Amino acid sequence: MAQATVTSHGEKMKTFRLLSGRAIPAVGIGTWKTGSEAEHAVYSACGAGYRHIDTAAQYGVQPEVGRAIKRAVHEGVERDSLFVTSKLWCTDLSPERVRPAFENTLRELQLDYLDLFLIHWPFRLKEGASRPPKAGEVMEFDMEGVWREMEELVKEKLVKDIGVCNFTIKKLNNLLGFARIMPSVCQMEMHPGWRNDKMLEACKNNRIHVTAYSPLGSQGHGRDLIHDPLVEKIAMKLNKSPGQVLVRWAIQRGTSTIPKSTHPDRIHENLHVFDWDIPHQDFQALCSLPDQKRVLDGEELFVNKTDGPFKSEADLWDHED
Ligand code: NDP
Repeated sequence: MAQATVTSHGEKMKTFRLLSGRAIPAVGIGTWKTGSEAEHAVYSACGAGYRHIDTAAQYGVQPEVGRAIKRAVHEGVERDSLFVTSKLWCTDLSPERVRPAFENTLRELQLDYLDLFLIHWPFRLKEGASRPPKAGEVMEFDMEGVWREMEELVKEKLVKDIGVCNFTIKKLNNLLGFARIMPSVCQMEMHPGWRNDKMLEACKNNRIHVTAYSPLGSQGHGRDLIHDPLVEKIAMKLNKSPGQVLVRWAIQRGTSTIPKSTHPDRIHENLHVFDWDIPHQDFQALCSLPDQKRVLDGEELFVNKTDGPFKSEADLWDHED
């Protein structure tokens, strides 16, 4: 397996610079809902030239992802050339649970450090919480206490960078008020169907890098952007696939992105996005898609319409949309 930071198509992989000075590869492989195919998908991705892997304890595939990384490293990919991200799940969102959860993640991935550790969602859940949650199963969390523990992991060089997902501007400002180590990355849902311009701008203003998740609209259970007429038209014109147009759109917006696929052909396809670009007019057209709406609104996980503390989707997102 090749070591170079070029894709299997021979293109040079673009990276973005983080506040910490480290580089994050522009395209990573997503692993949510990869199930029993996770190992094969991540191993294929490493072979295709991916050097950025996005996973989470909650996806239940860290052992498979770890095995894939181990195989790739065994075949010559240098661990230091990989950028591995994982996330702290909501049931572990209290200061005393951060380190055990992190150590479990390292163990499952068979790694001795992580490149990036993120708060998965800014809501604490009781162990075994139902969907939707019952009264008392969603608790506000001690953000400062959790962040301090994450900062400790950086100081001990167990993780290189720390960050957040699914934050609002309000929550970000709160965090920035006490952070001694800045969040390097904010991972948010972003695609032409949910641009989330305000959050992107807030992150840029604070020099926080954004990773766009669900860049294809989270197919199957989400928004079918692959078959959106505008995306299809631009893809046809550029002689690219709709998936490639969506991945390229994310990069051109200045975000890294983590499309998920378990199919080797699509895994290759989604990385073949560095030696061409979307012309300005088409890029702008994609930035003007109507019906802006989140796919991952968090409602099923965190909203209890009668007992709260979050009684609506708007409550979760601090009424910022
Ligand atoms: P994506 O937007 O990446 O879409 C994945 C779907 O698109 C799959 O059904 C996949 O099918 C299909 N697909 C992949 N490539 C192509 C292609 N070129 N053409 C057509 N279809 C394609 O969805 P996700 O929601 O999985 O988001 C990506 C990743 O982001 C996740 O896997 C996860 O790592 C991360 N994420 C993070 C979240 C967070 O809270 N921080 C929340 C959600 C996601 P197939 O596998 O069959 O190819």
